[in-house]
Amino acid sequence: MPETSPSSPAVAAGAPSAATATVPDGFVPLLVTDVVRETPEAVSVVFEIPPESRQQFRYNAGQYLTLSVCIDGAEHRRCYSMSSTPATGENLRVTIKRDRDGVVSNWINDAVAPGDRLHAAPPQGRFVLDESDREFVAFAGGSGITPVYSLLRSVLGHTTRSARLFYANRAESSVIFADALGNLSDRHANRFELRHHLDETHGVATPEGIESFLAGAGECEFYICGPAPFMETVEAALLNAGVPAARVHVERFASAVPELTAEEAAAVVTEEVTIELDRQKVTLPYRAGYTLMQMARSADMRPPSSCETGTCGTCIAQVTEGAAQLLNNDVLDDDEIAEGYVVTCQALPTTRTVRVVYE
Ligand SMILES: Cc1cc2nc3c(=O)[nH]c(=O)nc-3n(C[C@H](O)[C@H](O)[C@H](O)COP(=O)(O)OP(=O)(O)OC[C@H]3O[C@@H](n4cnc5c(N)ncnc54)[C@H](O)[C@@H]3O)c2cc1C
Repeated sequence: MPETSPSSPAVAAGAPSAATATVPDGFVPLLVTDVVRETPEAVSVVFEIPPESRQQFRYNAGQYLTLSVCIDGAEHRRCYSMSSTPATGENLRVTIKRDRDGVVSNWINDAVAPGDRLHAAPPQGRFVLDESDREFVAFAGGSGITPVYSLLRSVLGHTTRSARLFYANRAESSVIFADALGNLSDRHANRFELRHHLDETHGVATPEGIESFLAGAGECEFYICGPAPFMETVEAALLNAGVPAARVHVERFASAVPELTAEEAAAVVTEEVTIELDRQKVTLPYRAGYTLMQMARSADMRPPSSCETGTCGTCIAQVTEGAAQLLNNDVLDDDEIAEGYVVTCQALPTTRTVRVVYE
């Protein structure tokens, strides 16, 4: 894994690498107009969208975009939710918290500056506001505040719905948007309840704490985003309290635990992969550990792709012969998987031969 280094060549306007860095298919170079330090661990990056891309980059509160960055010669793609709120007309902004030893989040926190250009794929995602007028109840942990903050400002600014936010952090210094949230709470005191939960004071959030936060709530829609254990606690507490699953909206930042490790997959003796894409059909020997998308690329094909984490669904294709197992899947339901659909960026072959067809 490349080291994160502030001196690593960015895809930066004016920097020598800018002219040579290729823009991946489906990505657009966006100018960074501002970088705001939110906490010692998190920055917001504000972008200017070129006029010809404005339509493509329209988004709904709660959605995310994918950044493709080049660090020490290697391309990395990561998803980041917009912390800006579209209806306000403010510039598109993402907020990125350092992940311990993480490649891209640390690089962005250390190296990105106004004037740089980062390659971004247009917004997508289903963690968006429901159309009811039910109370909006959100649970955010750490960087999970980003889409929630965008949703919350939409609710308070553009609807008459009541809102509650339970925001968990390890310590006060990690609270992103602390002042802005305080202002929202003052301004909408009659219909917005804000509760900060700090682990250093109260220990980690518990089901009892979640339930007590719900006291007095009527008909609600629930939104959850944060570290996996936090999300599990909240989801379980809500379902135990009788909340219908359809009212619980979740956004997972981390990939789920892989169902199959690369080593396990490599142990499967796949010999041959056939890929059909854009009227091209290529059969090639399998390279151990490669996903179906990596196989397509190794054949000089250009499969559709975006997040490369099994989250967005851009790279879906159908396995019509043989089988593949998914390292991570946040998109396909059981029926689609049964029909052979895979997110090719996460699909490792598990049979001697595999045929995959992009539609
Ligand atoms: C839809 C979506 C929206 C998101 N929105 C946001 C957002 O708004 N803000 C935000 O901050 N993040 C967001 N994320 C998370 C973000 O995409 C990145 O996952 C995050 O920034 C970490 O990336 P990284 O490159 O820094 O870490 P990575 O280099 O990917 O590493 C992540 C972690 O895994 C560990 N790791 C990596 N490789 C290995 C290995 N081989 N063995 C063991 N451990 C390993 C690292 O030590 C690190 O702790 C979002 C994710 C998704 C899917």
